[in-house]
Amino acid sequence: MSEVAFGEAPYGVLRPPAPEEFRTALAGWFRAHRDELSGVRAARGAARAEAHEVLLDFQRRLYDTGWTRWGWSPGVGGLGGSAIHRGILYDEVWAAGLAITEGVFAFETMAEMLVRFDPELAARFLPAAMRGDDFWCQGFSEPEAGSDLAALRTRATPDDEHWALSGQKVWTSNADVANRCFVLARSNAGVAPHRGLSMFLVDLAAPGVTVRPLLAMTGEPEFAEVFLDNVRVSRDRLIGQPGQGWTQTMYLLQWERSMYGWQRQAWLHSRLGDLLGEAGAADRPAELGAAFVAVSALRARCRDSLRALSRGESPGPEISVDKILLASAEQLVMDVAREVLGDRLHFDDDRAAVKWRRDFMYSRAASIYGGSAEIQRSIIAERCLGLPREPARAG
Ligand SMILES: Cc1cc2nc3c(=O)[nH]c(=O)nc-3n(C[C@H](O)[C@H](O)[C@H](O)COP(=O)(O)OP(=O)(O)OC[C@H]3O[C@@H](n4cnc5c(N)ncnc54)[C@H](O)[C@@H]3O)c2cc1C
Repeated sequence: MSEVAFGEAPYGVLRPPAPEEFRTALAGWFRAHRDELSGVRAARGAARAEAHEVLLDFQRRLYDTGWTRWGWSPGVGGLGGSAIHRGILYDEVWAAGLAITEGVFAFETMAEMLVRFDPELAARFLPAAMRGDDFWCQGFSEPEAGSDLAALRTRATPDDEHWALSGQKVWTSNADVANRCFVLARSNAGVAPHRGLSMFLVDLAAPGVTVRPLLAMTGEPEFAEVFLDNVRVSRDRLIGQPGQGWTQTMYLLQWERSMYGWQRQAWLHSRLGDLLGEAGAADRPAELGAAFVAVSALRARCRDSLRALSRGESPGPEISVDKILLASAEQLVMDVAREVLGDRLHFDDDRAAVKWRRDFMYSRAASIYGGSAEIQRSIIAERCLGLPREPARAG
């Protein structure tokens, strides 16, 4: 398959390639454009700010040549196919030594939810996000509502033409570079907490929005506080119906845990490859073997979940297994990296060492973001194994 075939209009009439055909064609395209993509390879090891524009350009190129449009329906700017095509794309990007913008993580978490609950908004907003012209972030957590998300306090009040949003979000990943945020807010205080929530697509440039970046221990402003002070959001930016926010969140979490886990395993496989090339790796065969097994288990599990979601099935609470495997694999790989690299990871200032240090630090968050490991284990115990609820949570 040539570059022309993937970029040719009208896109809607193209036949989705079989998964292995797609994988071979994409790997071939990366090989054929190897020299032009050297900047993207270099961005893998660069600091966040330095890599940002390079990776957005790459995102645009992947869209303009059609590659990232496979896996989405023509109605939302895609070329057809399923999530399997997208999964293959992420696999091949990292296998080719390339990298992908972090915006894709939030995009993959939110996009399927938008398609399912609000096809009109999906048709309007997916193409720009797919191309990297829009950058999305997720405004769920608040200072008093993380694990207990239904306790959130951000209010959404309707008037004739708008919703007025007021409150505070925290730990909003990439809010400093994003232009749109999916905000979960309380639109009805008179019903059970999780029934009174609605989701909105908010422009971060709107009057009343303040984004205050937070420095993570990686040394990068990975996330931010987002303050909403009477932000007027037009009625057509409500996703689906008022009160659907909790159902939408539960639906998108399945995508977050499976597709994010899949993207992460592709990245972890490539980082394991990097580690094998480091001096000292040969002294740690058992540890490296264990890390490879953990990443392979994550891959196998996320592949099954993605296939189920692509068939329209719902993995339900068992998707928490994917999140546990992701956190364990990511932390194990980075623990082994620290053993292999020793003081080099802690103290050296060359690009590779700084990158290992940042990745090690970020891996500590893997058992917190997207739902903490303790909460996932409780979900598995109670909802998959049928054990009684913990006393602290039963009330
Ligand atoms: C790197 C990173 C990126 C993030 N990105 C985003 C983002 O983009 N958007 C967003 O909305 N949020 C984001 N978050 C926030 C994340 O979702 C929350 O941190 C997470 O859900 C935990 O909530 P919390 O921090 O309020 O901790 P808490 O809920 O206060 O929990 C504190 C500790 O208590 C434990 N705990 C709490 N309740 C129970 C219980 N019932 N049983 C057993 N243990 C319990 C938890 O496991 C945890 O160890 C991010 C977090 C991190 C670290």
